[in-house]
Formats: sequence, structure tokens, C-alpha cells
Amino acid sequence: MNIHENHHVLLEVRNLKMHFPIRRGLFKKVVGHVRAVDGVSFSVKKGETLGLVGESGCGKTTAGRCIVRAYSPTEGEILFREEESLTEDMRKLKVHINSHRRKDNATQGDVIDFARLQQDDLRAYRREIQMIFQDPYSSLNPRMTVLDIVSEPLVIHTQKKSAELKDHVADLLRKVGLRPEYMNRYPNAFSGGQRQRIGIARALALHPRLIVCDEPVSALDVSVQAQVVNLLQDLQAELGISYLFIAHDLSVVQHVSQRVAVMYLGKIVELAESKALYRVPKHPYTEALLSAVPSTNPDLKRERIVLTGDVPNPSNPPSGCAFHPRCRYAREICKKETPPWVETLDGHGAACHLVNELSLTGVNVE
Ligand code: SF4
Repeated sequence: MNIHENHHVLLEVRNLKMHFPIRRGLFKKVVGHVRAVDGVSFSVKKGETLGLVGESGCGKTTAGRCIVRAYSPTEGEILFREEESLTEDMRKLKVHINSHRRKDNATQGDVIDFARLQQDDLRAYRREIQMIFQDPYSSLNPRMTVLDIVSEPLVIHTQKKSAELKDHVADLLRKVGLRPEYMNRYPNAFSGGQRQRIGIARALALHPRLIVCDEPVSALDVSVQAQVVNLLQDLQAELGISYLFIAHDLSVVQHVSQRVAVMYLGKIVELAESKALYRVPKHPYTEALLSAVPSTNPDLKRERIVLTGDVPNPSNPPSGCAFHPRCRYAREICKKETPPWVETLDGHGAACHLVNELSLTGVNVE
């Protein structure tokens, strides 16, 4: 989906790479690179949730952090559609960028390349993309009250006065299902689920159009996970926000994502509409992840595919298809040649040499 041709696309990531240098010795000489993200491309439509799934170390969190520009990517484009009605800050920034007519050509029409923005210019755009973190215990400063935590982005990005800030924070807390009377309490007075709600209120403060949710329910009890997921869905329906929902297994994203991308060792190996990916996976890695998704039909016996070994070291990935040492279908060609990306007309794509030969097992989803 090309952001320049399709006005429903809010974010398009093209060939994103984040390589971290490995330094050794007295002079910290660069002896190699960890290829945490190695040529990732996907898009997110307005009001859509895209699930980004893979085991620990596959690069999904690094990709999310590049998108919010916590990291400056090594290569690639992060194209984001500007809002039709610009805020005052955004209007000033646009004038600033246009007056400089930047050599890096970060803007093209109403699309801006986040990857090329300099730190000075990032401030106004950062409010458009926010992040919710995995661990609600460590992501909130224990020495700040809820009022301070939730209002911090407003203090940085707006000129709201103290009384206005309190009203705004009270509205945000109500929106996420917390009582405004608690705004003067500290995070340790709240449960894990409530802390995650505080994190969501903070992320909503600046009316972002995209939220990168980095495993937002992984650290929570199963009983609380559904409540937080429901809250995110309700907020999406009300505010039209888009989510990039990062998770380590497919059962979490099943009910929230319209489309799902599966990542392995810094690359996307399969991307499709959710139902298609769950019912008829095209990549053996997706099939293995799906075999761990609990079945809703107790009579249906499914084989659990146990992946042996860990995700290989991203500084020294296997040759050919990086999944070949763990793939039950691997053939000689898989060790030698990188599989091409093959996509059908309905947008279901996978990178596997045997994509047209294998008949893989999925799960039944509603
Ligand atoms: Fe398995 Fe080969 Fe496909 Fe890689 S290309 S997933 S090793 S069958």
C-alpha cells in the first residue's frame, strides 16, 4: 500500500533498517553489526490495528522504537501522513520546514518522512505518534504523581495553565476508566492493570493518530489483559486512532488486529489480513507460532510444533533463509538462497521458497 497513492494509509515503513555497531578493544573499533531490524516494510491504515508478532529478539520492539524515533534508523523511510487540519505547533513547523526547504527533502505533499527529520523538527511531530510500554511497573516514574505523569506531555507541548491541565488530566483518566480523584496518588498505589491505564492516558494526552503498543498486556494477569485490550479497542472506535500492536504470540493479537505481520530475525516473513493468516498461513514460522494458539474447539486435535533452539544471533544470521536451521520443511535451496517475497492479489505475502508447494495448518477463527 503506497502512502502517496492511497489516502487511507497513515503510516508506511519502507525498507527500515536498524543496525547497532559492535565495538571491541581499547579503541572501541567496530567489529560488526547487530542487524536488529533488517529491511522491514509495512503500512498502517487510518483507524486500523496492525499486529507485529515474533519471538523475543526478532526486532519488533526495535522497529517500534524507530517509528517513534527513540532510535534514529540506519536506513529506510518512515512515511507519515500529516493531519488535514494542522495544530498551531504543526503549522509553525511546516512553515519552518518549508522556509528551509530542507536538503533531505523530508516532506512530499502531505507526507513527511520521520526517518529524516532532525531532532529540532521532531518535537512537534512526536505528538502524532505515541508509545505504550510493556511494563507498567517500570515505565511510570515512582516519584511522580499520576497528575504529573499524565500532564507531562501537555506541559512540554502546550501552554496549558495548571487548572486547565488538571481538567484535561481528569478527562483522560475518566476516558481510561480511572477515577480523577486519584490523580494526586503515586503509581505504587495502583495495580498493574490500573498502571497500564495511566500509561494509556499519558499516551492519549496529545491526541496522537498512531500509538505503538509494545506488548501492552504481556506483563498483566490474564484476567486483566482482556480489560486493557477492550479499553484500547473502545478508544480506537471513539477516537479513530491507529495501533501498531506488538506482541510475542499470535493469540494476543488475534482479536485486536485487522492485519498481522510476522517478524523473524529482523525481517517480516509473512503479512496478511488476520483471518487469512490464521486460517491459511503461508510461512512455516507462522504455522509454528499458530500451533501454540489455544483451540476454541476441544475436539480438534492439533499438533504442537516445538521450535528447537533460540532465534539465531542477528549479528551473524544463517545463510539463505534465516529460518532454515529450525524449519521442518527446509531443503537444500533454503540454505543457499534468500527466499523472495511472494504476494497474492489480496495482499497476503510471505518469504518462503516453498510458498506455492506447502499446505500449512492454521487455526479456525471467527
Ligand atoms: Fe522453511 Fe525453506 Fe521456507 Fe525458509 S524458505 S521457511 S527454510 S521452507
